[in-house]
Amino acid sequence: MPSIDYDVIIAGGGPAGLITSRRVAEDGHNVAVLEEHPEIGRPDHCAGLISTSGLRSLKLRPPKDVVQNHVSAARIFAPSGQSILIERGKREAFVLDRSRFDSWLAEKAADAGAEILTKNKVLDVDCAKQKPCTVTLKTGEGREIKRSQVVVDAEGSRCQLSRLVGLPTVPRRNKYPAYQFEMSGVDIADDVVEMYYGRHVAPGFFAWIIPLGDGRARVGLAAKDLAKMRLEASIRQHPVMSKRLEHAYIERGFGGIVLVGTPIKRTVSGRFLVVGDAAGMVKPTTGGGVIMGGAAARIAGRVVSRTLLDGRQIEEGLRLYESNWRALLMRELRAMHLAQRMISSLSDQGLNILIRDAENFDLVDIVRKEGDMDMQRKVIFRLLANPYTILAGLRAIRYFNPLL
Ligand SMILES: Cc1cc2nc3c(=O)[nH]c(=O)nc-3n(C[C@H](O)[C@H](O)[C@H](O)COP(=O)(O)OP(=O)(O)OC[C@H]3O[C@@H](n4cnc5c(N)ncnc54)[C@H](O)[C@@H]3O)c2cc1C
Repeated sequence: MPSIDYDVIIAGGGPAGLITSRRVAEDGHNVAVLEEHPEIGRPDHCAGLISTSGLRSLKLRPPKDVVQNHVSAARIFAPSGQSILIERGKREAFVLDRSRFDSWLAEKAADAGAEILTKNKVLDVDCAKQKPCTVTLKTGEGREIKRSQVVVDAEGSRCQLSRLVGLPTVPRRNKYPAYQFEMSGVDIADDVVEMYYGRHVAPGFFAWIIPLGDGRARVGLAAKDLAKMRLEASIRQHPVMSKRLEHAYIERGFGGIVLVGTPIKRTVSGRFLVVGDAAGMVKPTTGGGVIMGGAAARIAGRVVSRTLLDGRQIEEGLRLYESNWRALLMRELRAMHLAQRMISSLSDQGLNILIRDAENFDLVDIVRKEGDMDMQRKVIFRLLANPYTILAGLRAIRYFNPLL
């Protein structure tokens, strides 16, 4: 029988793959992270807004050169231009340089013993029953075949590998195009993130300005279609955004895919696991996936490592991953999905009413007191149970548009 090259092969060197690899390597297993690009973290696509509490929950304390800014509040704009400010009087989130963040995670994983192999693209995976998996790669030198006891798919939003082992993939309808510019000369407070909703601005999603400090910002938009065109139009014409950006200039532009919806229905098949964006593990309200994917990655790392250490039947041991991550995240993700669907079903008039009533009825106070950037279920249900929300919802629902 051909020998085993690795205990664990991880396809994809983003946060989900790197966090999994570190956990597995810490227990002394032989793990390789295969990343198709020449450098970890590049090209980047992310806005880098990550909650401080989420990072704490992952036991990550990014160094100073990874943190570009801190923010403590979010201002949410209705299509009318009216806004609500949600501030919680503390440093709610970091704005991270995602390229540096990913490189830092890679250093930590390598320190724990993981092998990080760039310019290694996974082309094919074959995980037959009760046998090690075979992974076909394209490297700088050509094609190679590697064998490992377990394969973890952390390939991000492209989501193609899981179908090779008969698992579902994130459906195309849940993938929204996104585009961002990094700009200088932006007229925005250094510690407030701005989010702009509206059917004409960003159908199905929203636009954002995330301050980087000193008048620099990431200005982006995701929508059902035409993200870059819509972003350029908003920069020129949006009543509020255009003012903020009147004297700004573009340093660089970059795109990506934001995921919406809930995770795929199965994430384990035999010796193959799916984690992070590849499994659709993002907050449906914002598309943010670093903390959700990171939380699942820690579970994946723990389950894989224990299964290998216990010497028990691998397929049986890995099944725990599915039940464990779902127990931690699924209720949260379902509640956020419900909220996102309600918001994206409203027409512009409906959104205007919702924002206006949220301010008038002090609903913002509930969010201020009970909101959490990642675990949003509690505040969503508190809001839904509030009589004023029901009143505002009834007013807004007249403008429900089933075609949106
Ligand atoms: C515009 C935009 C803004 C965002 N802003 C935020 C934000 O502010 N906060 C937040 O939490 N999330 C944000 N996200 C989402 C966030 O970027 C993702 O949730 C996160 O990167 C997912 O991590 P991951 O490790 O699962 O995948 P990724 O970070 O996508 O990493 C996957 C890696 O796998 C590699 N890869 C893919 N296929 C293969 C293969 N076959 N072989 C080898 N390597 C492969 C890729 O090159 C990549 O490096 C944003 C996304 C977009 C598009």
